[in-house]
Amino acid sequence: MKYDYLLKNATVFDGTGNDSFSSDVAINNDRIAKISPQITDDADITIDCTGLVLSPGFIDVHTHDDLIVIQKPDYIEKTSQGVTSIIVGNCGISAVCATLHGVVPDPIDLLGSLDEFTFPDLTSYKERINQISPSVNVGTLVGHTTLRNNCVESLLKPATQDNIEVMKTKLTEALEQGALGLSTGLSYGNAINSSTEEICALSEVLTAYRGLYATHMRTEYDGIIGAMEEAFLVGRHAKVPVQISHHKCAGAKNWGRTVETLGLIDKCRLEQDISCDCYPYRAGSSNLDLSQVTADYDILITWSTPHPEMSGKTLEEIAAAWSTDIHQAAARLQPAGAIYFQMHEDDVRRVLQHASSMVGSDGLPRDPNPHPRLWGTFPRVLGHYSRDEQLFSLATAIHKMTGLSAQRFSLSDRGFIKENYFADIVLFDANKINATATFEKPKQRADGIEYVFVNGVVAYTDKQMTGNRAGRFMEREKNQ
Ligand SMILES: [Zn+2]
Repeated sequence: MKYDYLLKNATVFDGTGNDSFSSDVAINNDRIAKISPQITDDADITIDCTGLVLSPGFIDVHTHDDLIVIQKPDYIEKTSQGVTSIIVGNCGISAVCATLHGVVPDPIDLLGSLDEFTFPDLTSYKERINQISPSVNVGTLVGHTTLRNNCVESLLKPATQDNIEVMKTKLTEALEQGALGLSTGLSYGNAINSSTEEICALSEVLTAYRGLYATHMRTEYDGIIGAMEEAFLVGRHAKVPVQISHHKCAGAKNWGRTVETLGLIDKCRLEQDISCDCYPYRAGSSNLDLSQVTADYDILITWSTPHPEMSGKTLEEIAAAWSTDIHQAAARLQPAGAIYFQMHEDDVRRVLQHASSMVGSDGLPRDPNPHPRLWGTFPRVLGHYSRDEQLFSLATAIHKMTGLSAQRFSLSDRGFIKENYFADIVLFDANKINATATFEKPKQRADGIEYVFVNGVVAYTDKQMTGNRAGRFMEREKNQ
């Protein structure tokens, strides 16, 4: 027997959350061929992994990478962190199933420009991903705002019964073609007028597929408990799992309230299947939303169409420069992007620690000055929160970005170091791993990532993309 790769003397964390063990791991073609304390067979390439952690490739469960990954298939932002799979189509916005009518509505415009939206169904997207083979595997949710935009007269009005039937048909087709579930972004202006009944009706389609309902909830501010109850109601109505996206308690008034929200998750988890994802920073980021402008905390402008010179400055600084108030300044900057320092560090920690949480970057790859989560999420959890702050063990940190995530999003044969599973593998130095991306300098490759294998191919080593790509489209695992 001759293997393609033999990884010797590694400290293996298998993604289950169990303690590590010392082992050799052999790779053949796209799969993990053998895991054993001592493998003596030959291999084309042998790598001595003494002192290195061998873990499943990280799964970024919350991304807006739908189109960037096609435009830029050597996707260093994620691959350099050890990410081998991404879930796109979050927050109600997906490139799949989009038929645009001459404009890209907010926040669908976070994904890309009009000419890039060429995927009226899931199959066309799947084929494009498989043809281009990016440096990461890609699975997708179907966005509710995307579906609405195909058929409603105005995004600012509730959908009609006819609209709902059109959306249900499209969603069924996408699930049939391998979609992982449905996402909503109910706090956004272009979705906020959809009723709970509209979401419940759509969610009924998920039941037969056991598709996931992932939601950027109606609010993450004062009314968060009501928003959670709405999300859970949808899950119970359709009898499907619920994923609260980028769970946070936003706004100074709500700092500390994750005690309450996580308590509610714990209580409701006794009756239904609920989990969440989060990124390891106390700032969020999105398009600049006038309703979120406040003097309670810093708001950093990342881009502005009429005033590109203001990117990197806080709204307060810009208002002072213009001798106006922050609300006027925000209006003048539109359209614009922003980073909001809207959370409390204690809340970030509590959500990260919660048994139901997994890691998702929510990075915005089109932003010229992106939030550092785009480049730094996974190394920051491993280096800062697990190793330095000892928020949880390395085994738990890895579980929250591998096995737990793969199970949650029904990704077959990924997320664990297991024989016959896909060889999506990261080798990293647990002492050195660190996010180097900062708010000032956000586009930085992490330290400590030594090798990234995707489907048995080395995509990244020596802090460089190898140019060898093997990413594939990931369909929802059938009949769990
Ligand atoms: Zn969101």
